[in-house]
Amino acid sequence: MTHVSQNSFSIEFFPPKGPKGAARLDKARARLATLGPDFFSVTFGAGGTTRSGTLETVAATMKATGIAAAPHLSCIEGTKESINELLDSYKAAGVDRIVALRGDLPQGMDEPGVFSYANELVAHIKQRHGDDFHIEVGCYPEYHPQAPSPAADIENFVRKVRAGADSAMTQYFYNADAYFNFVEEVAAQGVDIPIVPGIMPITDFGQVSRFSAMCGADIPRWIRQKMEGYGDDQTAVQAFGREVVARMCEQLLAGGAPGLHFYSLNKAQPTIDLWHDLGLPLPAGRIVETG
Ligand code: FAD
Repeated sequence: MTHVSQNSFSIEFFPPKGPKGAARLDKARARLATLGPDFFSVTFGAGGTTRSGTLETVAATMKATGIAAAPHLSCIEGTKESINELLDSYKAAGVDRIVALRGDLPQGMDEPGVFSYANELVAHIKQRHGDDFHIEVGCYPEYHPQAPSPAADIENFVRKVRAGADSAMTQYFYNADAYFNFVEEVAAQGVDIPIVPGIMPITDFGQVSRFSAMCGADIPRWIRQKMEGYGDDQTAVQAFGREVVARMCEQLLAGGAPGLHFYSLNKAQPTIDLWHDLGLPLPAGRIVETG
């Protein structure tokens, strides 16, 4: 399967809820498309969004922008039939990249579906579809919160790669060393697929703190202290968030990261600002509108 030969810059959306959310996404997507990302991706069932929304949002994104869009597909709740049906719909819609994940069991449900872990989903997609899809998987520079040990998490990641993953996107983090350490650890196990850092812009510190508590991403004490010190001063929070994240992205790219994947949360400006600050590639003749 094709490996990313040069840096890959991508932007993630979630399927919108209701007409207001859809209008907001349309606007943000139109602005983000002017950056010319390599692809967009669309989450699946995360944050209470409906699952049918992923296919709709992927199709609408490709149609509106002419840029490839990759659906996320989590397997923990699915039956083989429901997963196969989705894979067929994606193929029919012209999708050629899938982000294959385990997902999380909803509260109150404790039995996984037919696949218990993402490596099983990756193997299934490979076995059923060969090279039809470029398969992305998730990984965790600060280790997955349920992993019994760092070594076990690395072993599990390597298993996903051996099952056929073509590239990986990380959970977000605010500490470049965690990423470099992870890449080094998996390289020592023979993994050479591109591992693209996932970047969460900081604009609303309360929201980032809540997400981080849920997904196990560490917010370094010095960042937390400064952010808390700004209190309700949103201008200061956003300016510091922009500076700190841009600086980390610079370090990542200078250290050899093969691109960046931006968690846009369906907002355009934070990603546009970082794109500008980092001098990332733009389609010919385009100038970025910064905030
Ligand atoms: P896995 O790779 O299956 O790992 C899950 C845990 O099980 C880890 O602790 C791992 O070490 C362990 N493990 C793995 N394989 C084995 C095995 N064979 N035996 C024993 N233990 C094993 N969630 C959504 O619901 N929708 C989304 O759209 C979504 N998008 C995401 C995008 C990215 C880039 C990332 C990084 C995460 C995303 N998530 C999404 C969250 C993700 O679903 C959760 O983090 C989930 O808990 C783990 O998914 P995974 O695919 O990494 O799981």
